[in-house]
Amino acid sequence: MLLSSALLLMIGGLIASDRAMTSAAVALARTDAQQSGLAIAQAIQAHLRAGGTLSNVATDSVLRSIIADGPAVRSAAAIVAGLDTVLVAGDPSTFAHAIRQAAPIAAGAEAPWLFVVAHKPDAEPLRLVLWILSLATAAFLGVGLVRERRQAMRIAERSSELERLYSEVARANTAKSEFLANISHELRTPLNAIVGFVELLKDGVYGDLSPRQVPPVDRIAASATHLRHLVDQVLDIAKIAAGRLEVHPETIVLRPFVLNVASELESLVNERGLSLSIAIAVTLPRVRTDPTHLRQILVNLIGNAVKYTPTGGISVRARLVGGPSRPTPLPQTTPTSPLSAHTPDLRRAWVALQVADTGVGIARADQARIFEEFEQVNAGPRGDSMQRGTGLGLAISRRLAQLLGGDITVDSDVGKGSTFTVWLPIHPADLEPLPSATPSVAGTAVN
Ligand code: ADP
Repeated sequence: MLLSSALLLMIGGLIASDRAMTSAAVALARTDAQQSGLAIAQAIQAHLRAGGTLSNVATDSVLRSIIADGPAVRSAAAIVAGLDTVLVAGDPSTFAHAIRQAAPIAAGAEAPWLFVVAHKPDAEPLRLVLWILSLATAAFLGVGLVRERRQAMRIAERSSELERLYSEVARANTAKSEFLANISHELRTPLNAIVGFVELLKDGVYGDLSPRQVPPVDRIAASATHLRHLVDQVLDIAKIAAGRLEVHPETIVLRPFVLNVASELESLVNERGLSLSIAIAVTLPRVRTDPTHLRQILVNLIGNAVKYTPTGGISVRARLVGGPSRPTPLPQTTPTSPLSAHTPDLRRAWVALQVADTGVGIARADQARIFEEFEQVNAGPRGDSMQRGTGLGLAISRRLAQLLGGDITVDSDVGKGSTFTVWLPIHPADLEPLPSATPSVAGTAVN
């Protein structure tokens, strides 16, 4: 585009400058003819006054010198009377192709007398150079233009190829997610049967198990449960990736909700000899969220806390953070309550629901990647798959939290423990205190 405009401009400029040069040369020839014509008329008058006649005017020396002396660009000059040439100077052959101009001579004769000059185009070499230069530039621009066109065509081809590849990738991705969702769904049915029948076997429905049979049956039960958990998680990931996971928001009161989830996990916590405390103020605003998804996040975070805490305890707490009127955060329930890092936009209100443990902790360098799919830190040996986990729990939890309009962040120190914070957005209308709320902070030790 740019090159074509430059090319057009160049050609236009060239024609204009050529015209300008030609008309300047014509004007010079006209002036020469007119001025010399006047001088010739005076010389003829003088010749006649001195007794000469028009027929011998060609012998007049003054007249001859006027015709012979002209500007350097003049190549020929002639006095013409009707169809006869009275006097010629210079090279008459140049009349054929030079710039010609004529001026009338007041000679007093019957037939009109004219003075004709031929001027060689003065700027001819310059014009030639200009034309050559211009044509070379035009050729150069033309080549550039062709190249530009080709490049534009190549770019267009590439972008359509990219578009094609992109839609292929998108199709493949959807196909992958659908395949995963379908296969996981198909796997769940037989797995449920295995888990169910093994439970029946363990319960002695098909007769008592011999002491030798108990360990392998337990192993089958644990493996099948683990596998079903894995399949469930793959199904979740596939559904989220395919955008098929729906959110059904409800208004929940956080404290009873968390107590309920915690009581489900109590036996797991007790088995490991850990303590579990809940500290959630009754004054916290209600949360509009999908309870199924929030439950899944909480179960996963508490489950992880249990898994990665050899001794000590787990605490679940919640605080109101941010908001237009900056409500005062609730008093901290533990000496360290790391909300500092990665807090979201505090111009709006959030409930920061935290699961903190005194476990092994996560190195700073690993804190981002644990939220990626199948990413694990210091995972156990491959053979011990039940202890190993899947590396999907946090990826699912974060995506669920994002679906709920929030996020999950982590603060952790190796050897000291980890705190995972689930950020739940609070609707401004829910910032009004609950009518029945008593302003006490309820800290509950579950075990
Ligand atoms: P999984 O627990 O199945 O391996 P997750 O996605 O739940 O997968 O966790 C990813 C990794 O993050 C874990 O492998 C572990 O290294 C680390 N992790 C998660 N929670 C904790 C925690 N509470 N304490 C220490 N490390 C944790």
